[in-house]
Amino acid sequence: MNQRDGSDILVIGAGVAGASAALRLADAGRRVTVLARTALEDSASNQAMGGIAAAIGPDDAPALHLADTLAAGGELCRESTVRGVVERAPDAIEWLLDQGAAFDRRDGALDLTREGGHSRRRVVHAADTTGRAVMQALLRRLRAHPGITLLEQHAAVDLLVEPEPGAPGARACRGAQVLDLERGLLRTLHADHVVLATGGASGIYAISTNRSRPVGDGIALAWRAGCRVADLEMMQFHPTALRHPGAEGWLVTEAVRGEGGRLLLPDGERFMHRYDARGELAPRDVVARAIHTEMAAHKLEYVLLDISHAGAGFIRTHFPNTLEHCLAVGIDITREPIPVAPAAHYTCGGVVTGGAGQTDVAGLYAIGETAWTGLHGANRLASNSLLEGLVYGEAVTAAILADVPRGPARPGAGG
Ligand SMILES: Cc1cc2nc3c(=O)[nH]c(=O)nc-3n(C[C@H](O)[C@H](O)[C@H](O)COP(=O)(O)OP(=O)(O)OC[C@H]3O[C@@H](n4cnc5c(N)ncnc54)[C@H](O)[C@@H]3O)c2cc1C
Repeated sequence: MNQRDGSDILVIGAGVAGASAALRLADAGRRVTVLARTALEDSASNQAMGGIAAAIGPDDAPALHLADTLAAGGELCRESTVRGVVERAPDAIEWLLDQGAAFDRRDGALDLTREGGHSRRRVVHAADTTGRAVMQALLRRLRAHPGITLLEQHAAVDLLVEPEPGAPGARACRGAQVLDLERGLLRTLHADHVVLATGGASGIYAISTNRSRPVGDGIALAWRAGCRVADLEMMQFHPTALRHPGAEGWLVTEAVRGEGGRLLLPDGERFMHRYDARGELAPRDVVARAIHTEMAAHKLEYVLLDISHAGAGFIRTHFPNTLEHCLAVGIDITREPIPVAPAAHYTCGGVVTGGAGQTDVAGLYAIGETAWTGLHGANRLASNSLLEGLVYGEAVTAAILADVPRGPARPGAGG
């Protein structure tokens, strides 16, 4: 235990990745400090809509989830990582249920929806506000846990990195410099282990689906500390962000296409079949490129996404959040199509990590959207991100508890 201003473990970030790691570590008796740059509820995790992928349906298997993930990733995923993650997905859902997360059910069983790139219905969800349901459960436990110190409005601005004793040339992380944004004070927090869980970098683009507008803090901190980063050019653009004055970038969930939503040109023509046999259910990169091509060819600001044929009752049950948000800007999706265009959404690359989140610097770990694990390749499969945060929240906990040799990262160790 650290005797200075610190705790055993410093977790930087309170989204699904940071919160799940912190809870598991604290449940195991470790003292954990969790930082959030703004309010605790302000994370991509809290905004997540569609759901969490897990092969739990009667017609599904991890091998199918693996194949879909590899195909969506443009064959640039690391297969051992993908296998490890899809095999652990059912346990991740069980863990969330144990934490009190409430998901939609049908006849008692978890209701599974479908999204682009998935060959089966395998997306566990809470209507179209899955992230809120997950984070409400995790934040409730985080706030109540006696082993966890929460510091909101605290931004990590640098990592404390020193030579690792007995390991020539190696460096170890011993904590972070943290700015208390309310008081304007710089604090030094010492810790035996530091977990970066700061989310992605989609906020560097003019229009992002992420209202938190993350700019890659964790990636920059790790890079400055001497870690490798990878695939930063693999920025995922979500195909269907609302394009409406004053509401640019608000995400229209993938599940709208999963449940039969049609992409149309202004004259009502469907066009996705010209690009991919899966039509609107093609993976995100294919759909985003198709929309971009049509917008450029016809000099359009947006294309249309129509789910009105599903009926008002179905839409109210499955997409209450989308219905409400669009109504607020004057679009009734039970009767008319939604103007959409691609927007920056998800950072597939990040800090290079091994099978347990370990980086090139001893004692420093990276998990969630800030990490590169090899899961996503060139294009993340829908609903694999919350899953990755949960699986690596567990993996990093196991590594820290077992005192797995600290760094360097060994990509390919499997995830
Ligand atoms: C609108 C939207 C919908 C989505 N829908 C889905 C979905 O349905 N399914 C799915 O799987 N994925 C979805 N995603 C992607 C998914 O939500 C994110 O990839 C995932 O939640 C990232 O989790 P995280 O814990 O890594 O980071 P985040 O949830 O982004 O959390 C980052 C945390 O780090 C903190 N932080 C950042 N910088 C610092 C700093 N310097 N110091 C201290 N703290 C810092 C932040 O305050 C925050 O607490 C969606 C994303 C968006 C934007």
